[in-house]
Amino acid sequence: PQNDRKIGVAILGLGGYAKGQIAPALQLTQHCELRGIITGSPDKIPEWQQQYGIRDENVYSYDTMDGIADNSAIDVIYVITPTATHRDFAVRAAATGKHVWCEKPMAMTPEECQDIIDAASRAQVKLSIGYRMLHEPNTRKLIQLTKDKAYGELRSANSYAGYAGNPPPADYWRGQRDMGGGALYDMGVYTVNGLRYGTQMSPAAVVEAFQRRQERANGVDLTTTYTLRYPNGMLAEGKTSVVEDYNQLHIEAENGWYEMKPMQPYQGVKGSTSDGKTLGPPVPNQQSIQMDDDALAILNDTEVMAPGTMGKADIAVIRAIIESAETGKEVEI
Ligand code: NDP
Repeated sequence: PQNDRKIGVAILGLGGYAKGQIAPALQLTQHCELRGIITGSPDKIPEWQQQYGIRDENVYSYDTMDGIADNSAIDVIYVITPTATHRDFAVRAAATGKHVWCEKPMAMTPEECQDIIDAASRAQVKLSIGYRMLHEPNTRKLIQLTKDKAYGELRSANSYAGYAGNPPPADYWRGQRDMGGGALYDMGVYTVNGLRYGTQMSPAAVVEAFQRRQERANGVDLTTTYTLRYPNGMLAEGKTSVVEDYNQLHIEAENGWYEMKPMQPYQGVKGSTSDGKTLGPPVPNQQSIQMDDDALAILNDTEVMAPGTMGKADIAVIRAIIESAETGKEVEI
């Protein structure tokens, strides 16, 4: 494997996360280089070109991006746009023959997720979801405890992820239900995925769920709570919010407990165990580890850590939570 080759990354969608986290994190990677941008906002182009030395021939719009197929400088297109746009952008990205990294939550429905999976498989490119926690070293220690059954069989789990912000406005996608806004998609996906990696199990059903929604057209859920049941009968609880603060992933096992608290900030993820161990120390930059892992999967042609099938499975849980909240009934997944 030519591990000294760098993976050329083009970012699609130059919004808050791309600008604030991913572009700076790319500068800290060993195996990636930020080489291209794809944007619908021409006014953003000069600053990005200047700051990151992006060449004219690697700058695309949403109208010209299909031409990236012929650009050998670019290996990956990283889709970082509003969630309801992921399917179309990721399918188009895969069709260029470039590998695709797609931000969480993967898409709006399992069907949309499958479209992305199919497009990547048709093009024979790798597809990786931007689940940064799966790459975060302290979180990986918790995952290993579950895999090793270090505290015996699991008994229950809970995961809470929320932040006390202002309710999202109606004129921004995070305040629009049909764009993938709302607590459950935006933050709740961390709890759904956290329960997946924390328990190493897939839930069989949503037992019950409640959503507090904005009372306006296209308004989003501000807070969602839910209970999952696993095939072995174990229960787990999830809670997510854009107006309340909490952040943890807690696992109860027969011989003790272990948890990440906080479970998903950019900095300072750490854990502890019932017998006084710390799952630390602080990790400098999660996203650079994530992108290096994903770049190595390309360079070495190995499996990615957060495949499309996992992104799709989480969206199936999210849809079942919504259905359970709407019907007041248990929903099988
Ligand atoms: P922003 O609103 O800050 O940026 C979104 C960008 O997407 C826009 O700036 C725009 O870029 C582009 N875009 C393309 N189509 C549209 C459209 N129809 N409407 C609006 N914008 C559009 O969002 P974020 O950067 O915060 O979030 C983007 C994605 O990243 C989401 O899926 C979110 O869940 C995920 N995310 C993940 C995080 C993580 O920790 N893994 C953290 C934060 C977000 P341009 O002007 O260049 O066209």
